[in-house]
Amino acid sequence: MKKKLSLTTKIFIGLIVGFIAGLIVNQMPESYLRDTLLIKGIFQLVGQVFLRSIMMLVVPLVFITIVNGVLNMGDVKRLGRIGGKTLVFYMCTTAIAIIISLALASLLPPAAGVNLGNIDKVEVVTKDPVPLVDILTGIIPKNSIAAFAEGNMLQIIAFAIIMGIGISLVDKKAPTVRVFFEEMNHVMLRLIKFVMSFAPVGVFGLIAKTFGELGWAVVVPVAKYVGLVYLGLLIHVIIIYGGLLKLLAGASPRIFFKKFVKVMSVAFSTASSNATLPLNMEVTTGELGVNSNVASFTLPLGATINMDGTAIMQGVATLFIAQAYGIQLTLGQMLTVVLTATLASIGTAGVPGAGALMLSLVLQSIGLPLDGMGLILGVDRLVDMGRTSINITGDAVCSIVIAKQEKQFDEKVYRSESKTK
Ligand code: ASP
Repeated sequence: MKKKLSLTTKIFIGLIVGFIAGLIVNQMPESYLRDTLLIKGIFQLVGQVFLRSIMMLVVPLVFITIVNGVLNMGDVKRLGRIGGKTLVFYMCTTAIAIIISLALASLLPPAAGVNLGNIDKVEVVTKDPVPLVDILTGIIPKNSIAAFAEGNMLQIIAFAIIMGIGISLVDKKAPTVRVFFEEMNHVMLRLIKFVMSFAPVGVFGLIAKTFGELGWAVVVPVAKYVGLVYLGLLIHVIIIYGGLLKLLAGASPRIFFKKFVKVMSVAFSTASSNATLPLNMEVTTGELGVNSNVASFTLPLGATINMDGTAIMQGVATLFIAQAYGIQLTLGQMLTVVLTATLASIGTAGVPGAGALMLSLVLQSIGLPLDGMGLILGVDRLVDMGRTSINITGDAVCSIVIAKQEKQFDEKVYRSESKTK
């Protein structure tokens, strides 16, 4: 009898076949077949069709689910409480992530053997930090339609919350609007399911293209850096996320990872928290038992501001660059790194490569030369895939913890067999 493969298994197969195909193609001599037909042709096509189809859903999804979430939350006080808890959770886990990465990179110096020249005195770079007032006012869109068009997630979230509150306040005067959002929510979830059914092929294309272009050669000189980031990610996932699930939600980490691994593999191949958001919503509410009241608020916010994996990369990369220049960071500088990397990871957009751009902020905050980033950028995609998987895992773990505290966590669903086919 033939057993139907689950979506998770199919995505995994796509991932592995893509990886192998990419490495094989990378070894082929430069040719029309390799470069135009395969890497920039077939791999690019299937990968991008998949990626763009999910990205297409993200802006309306965030808006609709958050409006719906606010409507279902009942009262504004509850919204404030959940919002506050979520922010504290996100900031604390991010700070812990950076501390782990700094400790690791101090114990196992990743740049041993790499020498970018010595600089005796760290140049003080004067860069005006963005005033906090500007950061805060920037959350409120001047033009809400522009926020949608630019895909400015924080502004879209702010507008959605206000819209949700507005609809709640007029209550009986706008029943149709309320129902409209509820129904649109169903439509969005159905669309996500549809697009996700192409995930195995899409994942294949994305991974095959990445490895077809990169191959292994680029990795070797900075293998220790890449390895250390992955070690940091692993420690964070197992000890911190595993521990939080167990301690704060009484939930089995084993069940969590078994169900969540497919979301992680989509994050791995797309390297984008935003692109993973639709599937994350589906799995966190449908399989992990988090009520959509909570998830529809915590997940989009997390995809936008909670980036523990990115923070780990920024910590390791900063020490890597400092070591490569022969600079020993002081404790004060390390603390500055913890602070700026927390802020930088919050400011990192959930799209591929964004974290590496924000790294420049962290380097500048302690006066490290930006030239050192060259080495890191060469392998950034590889690191990006891993850190994005961790970024979105943090969002789901937070949702479970908050749902548990708010009595919005269905343990029966959490413990039940995975139902995705
Ligand atoms: N790609 C990451 C994400 O979407 C952000 C980053 O570049 O660190 O979560």
